[in-house]
Amino acid sequence: MPGFCQPVRHMTRTEKLLAELIALPSVNPAFLPPRHPFAGERRVSDFLASVAAHAGLEVEFHDVLPGRRNFIARLLPRNKIQQTILLAPHMDTVGADGTKFIPQRKNGRLYGRGACDTKGTIAAMLEAVCELAGSKSRPQSAQIVFAGLIDEENAQAGSRALAASGFKADLAIVGEPTKLQVITAHKGSLWLQLQTHGKAAHSAYPHLGKNAVHEMAHIVDAIESDYAAQLKKRKHKLLGAGTVNVGKISGGTQPNIVPDACTIEIDRRTLPGETETSVRREITALLASKKLSAKISSAQHAPALALETDHRLPLVQKFLRSVRQSRPAGVNYFCDAAVLAAGGIPSVVFGPGDIAQAHTVDEWISLAELERAKDLLTGFFRSLP
Ligand SMILES: [Zn+2]
Repeated sequence: MPGFCQPVRHMTRTEKLLAELIALPSVNPAFLPPRHPFAGERRVSDFLASVAAHAGLEVEFHDVLPGRRNFIARLLPRNKIQQTILLAPHMDTVGADGTKFIPQRKNGRLYGRGACDTKGTIAAMLEAVCELAGSKSRPQSAQIVFAGLIDEENAQAGSRALAASGFKADLAIVGEPTKLQVITAHKGSLWLQLQTHGKAAHSAYPHLGKNAVHEMAHIVDAIESDYAAQLKKRKHKLLGAGTVNVGKISGGTQPNIVPDACTIEIDRRTLPGETETSVRREITALLASKKLSAKISSAQHAPALALETDHRLPLVQKFLRSVRQSRPAGVNYFCDAAVLAAGGIPSVVFGPGDIAQAHTVDEWISLAELERAKDLLTGFFRSLP
């Protein structure tokens, strides 16, 4: 980034790292036309590798998709490894116009695409590890692994590949903007398609046909009213109730034909323990009770399960203590944590910034919170054996 790397007064190393990351577009290719210059995590992973190698960390890349790879950096302990902590923020962002890749500092905030989701967390985590690498008081037998993951914003190919590789850790801290709260639970997101079938007929003789759109209208009402009310009754301690949204509908071809097919797509935000099978069973039973019927199929390529990590695990307790948080917390949005947890790694979510600013036109992060994140992480690392 010509012109940006000159040291600026009052800029901490973490802020400088974040500003450099914002200036390297890494938009998820799923949101851009083919071969767009802003697409992919490659620039970010190459840059992180040079920063990490310079600090003395062991650096490697894991190919995941064509031209897209996870970046791994390790801080090895002096003695035999007895514990592994994984830091797992994602390197991809949602799209933005070109001006959003020029970091802007204003009123104690840094603006730019990815500032809070999740380049801020990348900067805080990597800076904490680099600081530790250069200090005398680093863990003697705990290994700290930083993993910059690809594709979180779309299909989580990065975390899925890491989990499938058999990588194991005693605790994963997944980076998302949580306002520095340790999150142990989040909802899952299940997309289903429902289809009704009728019989086509000339609209001058509608009694000869069976209207699939009419049938679907009853189903939409049953889901948005009865099913939503049913979900409200079942509450999770940290997450509240699950929800459902009919987000898409299509059916019929033209006004003078009785439609023979209609399709809807729904997004069901699930609680820990709920699966696609259990949700399908609930919807089928509801429709049957109202003498309605639809063919239900999956509308997503990979499962996005809810997260629930036992907050009594010693390492989770230790992390909660070191950020001075008395109780665990939950969030509604899905992230890489559930994928890593399903792969057998106890996972929590943590990072500076507020999810309310993520994906917005004027994404920003508080610089004080960014610095605090780095300090809290450093404190936690220093408490490790
Ligand atoms: Zn994110």
